[in-house]
Amino acid sequence: MKPVMLSGDRPTGKLHLGHLVGSLQQRVRLQTTHQAYVMIADTQALTDHMHDPQLIQRAILDVAKDYLSVGINPEQTTIFLQSGIPELSELTCYFLNLVTLGRLARNPTVKTEMQQKGYRNAVVPAGFLCYPVSQAADITAFQANCVPAGDDQLPMIEQTNELVRRFNTLYQTSCLKECQLYPGTTGRLMGLDGQSKASKSLNNAIFLSDTPDVVQQKVMRMFTDPQHVRVNDPGHVAGNAVFAYLDAFCPDQTQVARFKEHYQKGGLGDTVLKQYLNDVLQQVLAPIRTIRSTLDDTTIISMLRMGTHHARSAASHTLQQVRDAMGIYSL
Ligand code: ATP
Ligand code: MG
Repeated sequence: MKPVMLSGDRPTGKLHLGHLVGSLQQRVRLQTTHQAYVMIADTQALTDHMHDPQLIQRAILDVAKDYLSVGINPEQTTIFLQSGIPELSELTCYFLNLVTLGRLARNPTVKTEMQQKGYRNAVVPAGFLCYPVSQAADITAFQANCVPAGDDQLPMIEQTNELVRRFNTLYQTSCLKECQLYPGTTGRLMGLDGQSKASKSLNNAIFLSDTPDVVQQKVMRMFTDPQHVRVNDPGHVAGNAVFAYLDAFCPDQTQVARFKEHYQKGGLGDTVLKQYLNDVLQQVLAPIRTIRSTLDDTTIISMLRMGTHHARSAASHTLQQVRDAMGIYSL
């Protein structure tokens, strides 16, 4: 039997270059060796977008188009919608009894996101605090052992494995499987502002569907080194968004090493570097744009319907094992 891969994205906007290096490229590779599932996590997106379900509705189609544009192939990967699988919510419900509020509040990724969203402890939506538990349900429902995702997802994997061990010990079963993060190529890609990670919600990212002009404008506005005022001043590479993107996307890393040396010595201007980065990114994005222009909503919706149908039968198989292990009546 092939190993199982599961990964997904919240439909809170279009996917960006962080997704490309953080997980999409890995998914494309793994779909040939793994039984592959990719989930559009619309239920999870509601945990902080409860006021704007229309945004989620629109983003579902955008995210699905991003998937096909980068080469996720629905013949090899089951692409599905989380809300179409009520079994995932049921499993979440059982898992919620196996985790404490204290443990939920200690999750470092959730803590960072709470700060960014202005959720203090007493006002955080319960669903948001609990989303790592719903992720544990998503992963275990498909018996996934491989999760290609950015390193912000490491705490989710740890929490999932804790829940798996707790469940299997408590109910004396081995029906749930532990999983591992399959790391992205470059860790966490920083945002254009150089402050936090590139994120759909923070509006600090280059999207896979951005037009060439928009990409160029964003590159020209990228954060570099505030102390590099004159061309001849020595500049810093660490924390400089332009170099972070060159590290992640430039196929000629020898040239990047030369640029870094020159920049640190002084004499290399930000504009020259940014023009070079713009060319690199346009080459990465051109084939993605070409595929995207061939996709229409009707095809995408029927692909999602088929994928969700297929994924549901896999999840309900696991849920039956879970209910049996817990001794829940099937009437
Ligand atoms: P939101 O702002 O709505 O949380 P997001 O941009 O953080 O959106 P998610 O849908 O939360 O994106 O993340 C989906 C996947 O993409 C996860 O595996 C995550 O690790 C990865 N990912 C997101 N942003 C980055 C990034 N900047 N660098 C690397 N991987 C990333
Ligand atoms: Mg996120």
